Amino acid sequence: MEARDTARGLVVRIKGADFFVASESGEIRCSLRGWFRVSGTPEEVLPVVGDIVSFRSGGSGDTHGPRGLISGIEPRKSILARTDPSQKNGSRVLGANMDQAILVFAAREPEPNFRLIDRMLVAAACGPMDAVICMNKMDLAERREEFDEALVPYRGMGYRVVCTSAKTREGVEELAAAMTGKLSILVGPSGTGKTSLVSCVQPGLELAVTMVSASTGKGRHTTTHFELHRLASGGYLGDTPGVREFGIRGVSRERLGGLFRDFVPFLGGCRFMTCTHDHEPGCAVKEAVEKGLVTRERYESYLRILETVRDERSLGNPARRGASRRRTRASRRER
Ligand code: GDP
Ligand code: ZN
Repeated sequence: MEARDTARGLVVRIKGADFFVASESGEIRCSLRGWFRVSGTPEEVLPVVGDIVSFRSGGSGDTHGPRGLISGIEPRKSILARTDPSQKNGSRVLGANMDQAILVFAAREPEPNFRLIDRMLVAAACGPMDAVICMNKMDLAERREEFDEALVPYRGMGYRVVCTSAKTREGVEELAAAMTGKLSILVGPSGTGKTSLVSCVQPGLELAVTMVSASTGKGRHTTTHFELHRLASGGYLGDTPGVREFGIRGVSRERLGGLFRDFVPFLGGCRFMTCTHDHEPGCAVKEAVEKGLVTRERYESYLRILETVRDERSLGNPARRGASRRRTRASRRER
């Protein structure tokens, strides 16, 4: 029997019981040997797309190429979940370790919905993953200054903002550079140009970017499949799971403010530690809005999202579970 060394690789696709793992020695079709643990968490889980796994490549394989056996999963730094009412916590893990979500909106046709941008920024922060704002169809923008102005606060919060046009190819190189070496997903309403941008960045890349209607925000629950596609420039791009699936999950009311980057500098100034920046007196966030340090639009987005997380229990991601539980208990006492 030949020596079997343990190697590391990235799960890029799952088909039935086969896990396709990209590693230094190419893509290897792996199976799982029984149960194994994710180090650092008590839960036993199966690998998902985006997981870094350790595996042993075994033998010469079969007609389908080399085979391997997965023996462990490295701790996940982020989670991409889709809503699934059949699950206890209302969502199911779709992917792991995504570095960033690229939010694709259009300057026109359809008009950009900044409230949805804010919602998606919060969803990304939940991952937690970074977010890049891509404003496409800039060729249709009549007054560019308006967009520049609307995007200033986002740049100020540290988000990377890329203005593109799949038609004139403006900004396409910058967008490609933002994806290089990263695990990214593209999200955004349908018709904003995701498919067009992908084929500008890498002609021939087949991506399922089935999206939802921007007006209703309702998802077609068709995309259960999630796959990572290798970018020629290095990095991977994931099939878009859809707006609803890329949702805000496990956020307590008290944690929401912390996911608004522009609120963060003020959070320590609120009179109550469990302040939800809504009705409470002595709220430093509301004061910042009055002073023009946080825009009214962002505060409005916050209140809208707060309304939707009103009754959600704090589930959090594994890394933050302890902290958010403690805060939830404190706030229950207050209520
Ligand atoms: P998706 O639904 O987000 O994948 O959007 P598509 O890539 O299918 O694009 C929707 C429509 O917008 C198509 O008719 C594209 O030709 C058009 N489109 C995409 N990008 C641009 C752009 O930058 N400028 C203009 N003028 N049209 C674009
Ligand atoms: Zn407050």
